[in-house]
Amino acid sequence: MTTTEILFELMRAATSLTGYEYPYSIPEIDYVPYETMRDIMILSKICSSTDKRYECNVKAVYLNLNGVVYLDEHSDIKNSPLDRSFVVHEFVHYLQAKYNSYEIETYTCSVRAGREDEAFKAQNEYLVEEGIDKVYVPVYPCQKK
Ligand SMILES: [Zn+2]
Repeated sequence: MTTTEILFELMRAATSLTGYEYPYSIPEIDYVPYETMRDIMILSKICSSTDKRYECNVKAVYLNLNGVVYLDEHSDIKNSPLDRSFVVHEFVHYLQAKYNSYEIETYTCSVRAGREDEAFKAQNEYLVEEGIDKVYVPVYPCQKK
């Protein structure tokens, strides 16, 4: 399977796990170093520039501003089901934006929690399908002090 084929498969997983319509398109994927990832997290208000907490340390992030899914440059979606699950998670955010199911530019705790619940649920179900015994519990920046 080529990387593109894998990405379309992951989009298929994201839609079947959430019920969104298959979009027949995938967002642009960009592999970036950790520092860039962190800047994007700050830009998308997921963490602050003074924040040393772990949510700044992510493997993937969807930036609705330009519709790009950024992946850690060390991601190996061909061989790592875990890395693929991060893509499924971000694809769910892409679908949320595309179908406007959640207010994607809203940063209130409850709206963010809804978005993340849906993405984590799909990611966890994908991991189960892949036979990986790892479950992500959604955490919201607004709940952590
Ligand atoms: Zn998320």
